Amino acid sequence: MTEVKGKEKESVLKLKSPSDGWVDTVVFHFKQGNINWPMLIFITMAHVAAVYGFIRLINMTLLNDKPLELHQKYTLLWSFLLWPISGLGITAGVHRLWAHRSYVATRPLRIFLMLANSIANQGSIWHWARDHRVHHKHSETDADPHNATRGFFFAHMGWLFIKKHPDIITAGKELNFDDLIADGTVRFQKALDPWFALFMCYVFPGIVSAACWGKGHVMETFWDGYWIGGALRYILVLHFTWFVNSAAHLFGDHPYDPTSYPAENPVVSLLALGEGWHNWHHKYPFDYAASEFGISKQFNPTKLFLDTCIFFRLASEPKRATGAWAKKKQIREQELYINGTNQLSNTKKAM
Ligand SMILES: [Zn+2]
Ligand SMILES: [Zn+2]
Repeated sequence: MTEVKGKEKESVLKLKSPSDGWVDTVVFHFKQGNINWPMLIFITMAHVAAVYGFIRLINMTLLNDKPLELHQKYTLLWSFLLWPISGLGITAGVHRLWAHRSYVATRPLRIFLMLANSIANQGSIWHWARDHRVHHKHSETDADPHNATRGFFFAHMGWLFIKKHPDIITAGKELNFDDLIADGTVRFQKALDPWFALFMCYVFPGIVSAACWGKGHVMETFWDGYWIGGALRYILVLHFTWFVNSAAHLFGDHPYDPTSYPAENPVVSLLALGEGWHNWHHKYPFDYAASEFGISKQFNPTKLFLDTCIFFRLASEPKRATGAWAKKKQIREQELYINGTNQLSNTKKAM
């Protein structure tokens, strides 16, 4: 295989049309030596582990003739709760706090969110926030890490399997991340990455299960917590987050910015704790609610969580974009009315 260098390499790394078949795309990237093997192997193994967790869950429930024992019920409840807990580490934590600075959090809240974020195991806060700021600044271009114009699979998870486009690296260098490095919780997690996150994602759910309700069944409860609360829950929450980049960039309404890809997607909001109101979010990324309306109108558990934190003074200074939106709406309606009147009088003159 001939080696491609410099400018030439940049041009071969340019987009393949999304209409290309997946076999062609895989062969193309393989030939370019462009595959991120460690990530591909890790994500594949994590999915195999999740399948084993799912088999263990089915054996414990559907294929079990005996009623569930108390320690098994607790482990299942804990595994389920780890969905919103680890999810908040992404939505309220690395997304709305660290990537967008849409509110201010006290140290206890930042520690909780950093721990929850580690359970979610989606790369360190520093890396996630950096990629996300680049995503907002360069949405749907080569510099966007999960550019949705390259198709659903690429935006969902394919982007992790290949090396970054050179434009993404350049774009990352142009942004400032001093605020992230200034935060001790971010530095702590980054210093221990990836081992701390792997421990919190897989082993911690097992330890909690065994220590809190495993009496008499310590090892069985530990492994149930490890495989179901760890391995299976991890992959599910990972896909729920990935749907924000794929489904919420490709399917849904565009009431706030009709020219952009991000869309209002209620299903993604349901899975990703209120992060599917993505047309609003890309239009007003500084809004802590990441949706136009409150929780009674748009499903948004992350906003409910943040409002609770604000009530208990764990968070403050939430930024909101509804004022800007109302003003814009008013101007548009005014323009429509005036234009409409003008058009009407012009028609009358013509008659
Ligand atoms: Zn987006
Ligand atoms: Zn965002």
